[in-house]
Amino acid sequence: MKNQQSNSRRTFLRNLGASASALSLPLLGYADNQFVQNETSGLYSLLTDPNGEPLGQPGRKLGIALVGLGYYSKNLLAPALQETKNCRLAGIVTGTPAKADEWMKKYNIPKENVYDYKTFDRIADNKDVDVIYVVLPNSMHEEFVVRAAQAGKHVICEKPMAITPKACQNMIDACKKANKQLAIGYRLHYEPFTKEVMRLGQEKVFGPIKFVESSDGFRIGDPTQWRMKKAMAGGGPLMDVGIYAVQGARYVTGEEPVSVTAQFSPKTEPEKFKEVEETMFWQFQFPSGAVSNSTTSYTAGVERLYASCEKGWFELSPAFGYGPLKGRTSKGPIEQPVVNHQAMHMDGVCSDLLAGKQLPDHVTGEEGKRDVTLLQAIYRAAETGKKINLRG
Ligand code: NAD
Repeated sequence: MKNQQSNSRRTFLRNLGASASALSLPLLGYADNQFVQNETSGLYSLLTDPNGEPLGQPGRKLGIALVGLGYYSKNLLAPALQETKNCRLAGIVTGTPAKADEWMKKYNIPKENVYDYKTFDRIADNKDVDVIYVVLPNSMHEEFVVRAAQAGKHVICEKPMAITPKACQNMIDACKKANKQLAIGYRLHYEPFTKEVMRLGQEKVFGPIKFVESSDGFRIGDPTQWRMKKAMAGGGPLMDVGIYAVQGARYVTGEEPVSVTAQFSPKTEPEKFKEVEETMFWQFQFPSGAVSNSTTSYTAGVERLYASCEKGWFELSPAFGYGPLKGRTSKGPIEQPVVNHQAMHMDGVCSDLLAGKQLPDHVTGEEGKRDVTLLQAIYRAAETGKKINLRG
């Protein structure tokens, strides 16, 4: 593959890699010799784990069971699990018998690795399944993560982790009690363009960040889906994709916001948005003095992460979707390998699980809870019209 980075950058990454993995800190950016390109798909995958160390254990792949076979499982996770090196699709949990038949045939899943929501707890006795991946509507994450931990399995849970910080804490506690690890589906934390903007911002490559614009929205289809129901989704676009904008502002600055103000837009389609917001805006202040402005929407598309720094700027646009992501800086384009986000994420998480390592904090339940706490503060700020102090 193309030699995209300088020797000094490689040396820097190697040095950083050594100290970062020892401390379990996020490793910012990848080294260029970590990737190999697939000749058919053109996508890149990792030769080494995200910390630059050899992948997992040769010949041993963790078995993943997907809970909930909707859009994300069917179109993104199951295909990605055909490419992963550290894990494989071992089981499924579904309430729809027809889906069970289809998936068993398509992915060669044995009947004994197929569960419904009632028989799910029996997965405790299934040695084929090491990790349970919860891909259900947001309000159901808590119950199934807790049950997965009680079954003695590691867990990956989709974003947003839950609809309240209290539910997040219950999930963290259940996994701790079972001595199992909990990862959130933060696929972008393993994605090369995203890791590069984390590096540009956190290492102040263009000087201190002054201002961040971080927005994610799309035009939603079926108005009857669970995403439009407050009890199941926890809210509207903020819970669904606004969480990416919150993450973006946090990971480019590497800081936690100290205050938030927020506003709901007037509803342009009130008959459709009876339970959840249609579009909203919020502003964070960070300890360094950096500020961010964000938009999320279910009626208009936006997908951009832009940072203006003292000595230049950088941006990703698109910034949060499945890719290819695209980036530029005031000095030229950002060049990184294009990867399968879901495969990178699951391989990254399973690499640490196979090696018996603690997952880096920024992909765990603790990080999921930080985001859900911020999402709730954004709603509170918009509802009250007041600036919310986040220091306490
Ligand atoms: P979906 O509606 O397509 O699938 C949900 C699944 O849950 C379906 O199989 C459905 O049958 C099942 N289900 C069980 N009980 C249900 C109930 N009471 N009501 C509705 N569905 C029920 O949703 P999705 O798009 O696959 O999203 C699932 C989760 O994955 C969500 O938490 C979402 O935020 C997350 N997600 C993450 C990404 C990402 O990029 N990380 C992308 C899409 C979705």
